Amino acid sequence: MSDLALLGGTPSRRQRPWPAWPQYDERTEGELIAALRSRRWAVSWPTDGSPSRERRFAEEFARYNDVAHCVSVDHGSSALVVALEALDIGPGDEVIVPVMTWVAPVTAVLRVGALPVVVDVDPETGCLTPEAIREATSARTKAVIVVHLACTVADVDGIREVVDEAGISLIEDCAQAHGAQWRGRKVGTFGALGVFSFQMGKVLAGGEGGAVITSDPVLYRRAEQLRADSRRYADVDVPAGGSELVEDGEVMGGNYCMSELTAGVLLDQLPRLDQQHEHREKMAAVLEAGLAELGGLGPIPVPAEADVRSVYEYGIRFRPGTFGSVPVERVADAVAAELGMALWPPDLPLHRSVMFHPHTKRRFANVWTPEGRTRALGREYPGAERYRDTTLIFHHQALLGDAADMADIVAAVEKVRAQHESLS
Ligand SMILES: *Cc1c(COP(=O)(O)O)cnc(C)c1O
Repeated sequence: MSDLALLGGTPSRRQRPWPAWPQYDERTEGELIAALRSRRWAVSWPTDGSPSRERRFAEEFARYNDVAHCVSVDHGSSALVVALEALDIGPGDEVIVPVMTWVAPVTAVLRVGALPVVVDVDPETGCLTPEAIREATSARTKAVIVVHLACTVADVDGIREVVDEAGISLIEDCAQAHGAQWRGRKVGTFGALGVFSFQMGKVLAGGEGGAVITSDPVLYRRAEQLRADSRRYADVDVPAGGSELVEDGEVMGGNYCMSELTAGVLLDQLPRLDQQHEHREKMAAVLEAGLAELGGLGPIPVPAEADVRSVYEYGIRFRPGTFGSVPVERVADAVAAELGMALWPPDLPLHRSVMFHPHTKRRFANVWTPEGRTRALGREYPGAERYRDTTLIFHHQALLGDAADMADIVAAVEKVRAQHESLS
C-alpha cells in the first residue's frame, strides 16, 4: 500500500507556507516611490542634476563584482546580445554554447547573425567542459559562452586555457551565478565580458533586467553605445535639464536600456544579496547533511576552486536506480506533491527543446541552412541526458526557509524513494 501524496495519500509536509520570493519591505517601497516621484523613468530623459539610477546601479554592481565597468540593460538576453556585438561577432562566425542552459545564449548568437555550435556538458554539473570546447572549435569560432548553471560553477581555469590557446573570446553567462567566486574572484570577470539577468526569479531580482560587466575600457565604451541607440554617458557633469547620454555613434546600437523604476528596485535588492547567499548556504548545509544520510543522493558538485557558489536553482543529484526505473519527471512530481512546492527535472537539453526552433523564423534562414543545422547540432549529448535524468531541481527561495523546511525536503525524498515502486 502506498500513501504517496501524488497517489492520493497524505503529504509528508504539514500545511506550512514556503518562504516568499521576491523579498521586499518598506525600504524597497521607498526606493520605488522615489524613482516614481522623480518623474525620470528613463535614463534617456533629462536629468534632475543627479545621476540616473541605472548608472548608479551599474556602478554599485561593478563594485560588487570588483570589476572596472558595468552597463545596465533591460534583460539578460539583451546583455548577451550586447556582449556579442561588443566583440563584433556576426555573420560567418560561430559561437560555442552548452546544450544545458536557458535558451537565451543560443537565441542571442542567432540574433547577431552568427551560428551557435551546441556542445555537450559534464554529466555531474551540467556545465561546459574544456574538452567539448576543444573538439568543437573551428576556424570560424570567435567565442565561447559558458553558463554557470543552477548552483555550480563551470571549470573556469580549464576553459580559459582552451580559449586562450585557440585565441577566441570568453563570455561568462552569470544569469544563474551572481556573487559566485572562483579562487576568490567573482565569476563574470574571467572572460572578455560577463552577463547577468535580473529577471525576478534570479537571486538578484528586478522584475526584468540585466547587466554586462567588463574590465576592458574599449568593450565598455562599445557596450554603452550598443545598449542606448549609439549613445553613452557624457564625460562631463551634466546640469539639471541636460542629457546624461550623448550621441557618440562609434558603433550603432539598439535600445536595451534599463528602466529607472527597475534600477530603483535593484538598488534596494543588491545590498541584501550576500546575506541571502549566506542564509541559503547555511540551509544547503543542513539539507546536504540530511541527504548524505539517505545515501545515493547529494548536491550538484561544485569544483574545489569555486570557493563561493550562488544557489539559483538547487539541484539534488541521485545515483541511477535510486528510484528504480521511474522517470525523473514522475519522481519530481511525487516529491513536489509531498512538499506542496514546485520541483522539476532540469530544462530539456537544447537539441530536444521546442524553444530552440530557428526554422520558425525567416530571419535565421541564412544561418539555419541544412549545413548550419548539422554544424550546430550534429553531435551526441550523453552528458546532458545523464544530467537531466538524475537531477531534481527546485528554486532557491526554499533555501530562505529554516532547518525544519530542509528536514521536510529530506523526508519527502526519503518517502518517495521508499515507495517508488508504486509510481511505476
Ligand atoms: C535567465 C537567463 C538568461 C536570460 O535572462 P533574461 O533576463 O530572462 O533575458 C540568460 N541566460 C541564462 C543562463 C539564464 O538563466
